[in-house]
Amino acid sequence: MRLEAKVAIVTGAGSGFGEGIVKKFVAEGAKVLIADRDEANAARVAEATGAQWKRADVSNAADVRAMVDAAVERFGALDILVNNAGIGHLPQPLEGLPEDEFDRLLAVNVKSIYLAAKEVVPRFKAQHRGVILNIASTAGVSPRPRLAWYNASKGWVITATRAMAVELAPFGIRVNALNPVAGETPLLKTFMGEDTPETRAKFLATIPLGRFSTPEDLGNAACFLCSDEAAMITGVAMEVDGGRCI
Ligand code: NAD
Repeated sequence: MRLEAKVAIVTGAGSGFGEGIVKKFVAEGAKVLIADRDEANAARVAEATGAQWKRADVSNAADVRAMVDAAVERFGALDILVNNAGIGHLPQPLEGLPEDEFDRLLAVNVKSIYLAAKEVVPRFKAQHRGVILNIASTAGVSPRPRLAWYNASKGWVITATRAMAVELAPFGIRVNALNPVAGETPLLKTFMGEDTPETRAKFLATIPLGRFSTPEDLGNAACFLCSDEAAMITGVAMEVDGGRCI
């Protein structure tokens, strides 16, 4: 019960990595609010895990405020925020991504972290305690061609994590990131362009441990970084990548 009595929000937890993080957090004793724009999936994960859920678009300031208020109203506290919601774009020459897709990418992957910080940091400062975990990507460390703007959005997440960590450390707030390698989630086909044995083999060839990451891998790593076992760890962007970034 490494997260006993902790209250956590996990964004984008109606699917994939977020779902794995919620399962692990609940199993370790946390009270969890799933925040996702996909109501059906959020409700499905809540039903399966015993977590609660709220519809929220993390790129919308009012939704983010309502998400944080809901966690505090329902559970009476907030200790952990996991900024997991994110989107990709299909592999393509960097000059080809339409402007509206670029704007959407940055709103969901980048602006969401700013909006959530505006809501939770004053609360965490007041209680002199809090943990923020941002889900970045190996894309921010070792970019693959044809995913340029996704890669850059995750590079921003890593720098934001370090900047937030150094500024918030004196207030007792820890901020870390996870860098997953390509994972077995519905988002994977967006990165691969097409889900064929050939593209899978090409991706797997770059991962020394020889498999994709899983929601369970992310749940385990997130649990550690958000628990008091990681009390001295802040500002890291930890690879969960089977050695891909070596
Ligand atoms: P996924 O598509 O399986 O799940 C993402 C969830 O986020 C979905 O439930 C979706 O409804 C939700 N979401 C999307 N936009 C949202 C918004 N504006 N507001 C609220 N919810 C929103 O994806 P995943 O693979 O689990 O990805 C989770 C995170 O991990 C993302 O930040 C992604 O960039 C990152 N990541 C994924 C991979 C991978 O290969 N799957 C690799 C590295 C990093």
